[in-house]
Amino acid sequence: MSLFLVIFFLLACIVVWFIWNREVWKTPTQKFPEQWRKILHQEVLYYAALNKGQKSLFESKVHEFLLNHTIKGVKTKVELLDRLLIASSAVIPIFSFPEWRYTNLKEVILYPSSFNKQFQGGKPDSNIRGLVGYGFMEGKMLLSKRALREGFQNYSDKRNTAIHEFVHLVDKMDGAVDGFPDVLVQHQYSIPWLELMHTKIEEIDKNYSDIDQYGATSKIEFFAVASEYFFERPDLLSKKHPKLYETLENIFKQDMQSMQLKKKRVDIGRNQPCYCGSGKKFKHCHL
Ligand SMILES: [Zn+2]
Repeated sequence: MSLFLVIFFLLACIVVWFIWNREVWKTPTQKFPEQWRKILHQEVLYYAALNKGQKSLFESKVHEFLLNHTIKGVKTKVELLDRLLIASSAVIPIFSFPEWRYTNLKEVILYPSSFNKQFQGGKPDSNIRGLVGYGFMEGKMLLSKRALREGFQNYSDKRNTAIHEFVHLVDKMDGAVDGFPDVLVQHQYSIPWLELMHTKIEEIDKNYSDIDQYGATSKIEFFAVASEYFFERPDLLSKKHPKLYETLENIFKQDMQSMQLKKKRVDIGRNQPCYCGSGKKFKHCHL
């Protein structure tokens, strides 16, 4: 009898331990802060181009992302702007999949600028702007703060490091990072997508392409680089690479061409406090 009680007690302890340590997915219960809205409006062209209903969905996904993922700075301060830009980069590629959760990501680690394989900045080989962790780094994404901000400040260079890294995570969701996100590519597009990637990589190799050279590294990088182009310069992509544009539109289920990705004028005085909440005057901050 006493043995039975001991076993029962141990089992009860295990159950309590599991319940205690269970990861509970959090959903926002508070209103989306007005200041966050202003920052998104000003800094994220994609958000500014959405209609009212889409904006509110975007806000709730950004909020949810921030509730469920840690963002930590190494030798740099993580500001509200950084948090919102990271969350926006996460939401943009999967915006047409409202049930999407980055279950393969726990933490985003922000470095001041580019880093090397030992995660050191300022060295001759410090040229990594972002990466998705494997092995002992599983569940982590590393980003350069400078690259994160440049990705949103420069909206014509077809580059956005943070979106690039989140597209890798989308690709990784089926277990294999291969430039082929099984979760998004419908069966009928699978062979054409592989063939198209092959052709486009060849064009880059032969210098016939305006797609970033880095895209020719592999199919994995091609998918991420082409996605940066798709989300930042959809008009140009559809003009120069109509088939690629159409395929990415099918993969991400987003009609990017119909969006008006234009920088909005800031309705704020030079001497007023900046909308980002830094406490500085607008003229000394985001003007
Ligand atoms: Zn990459």
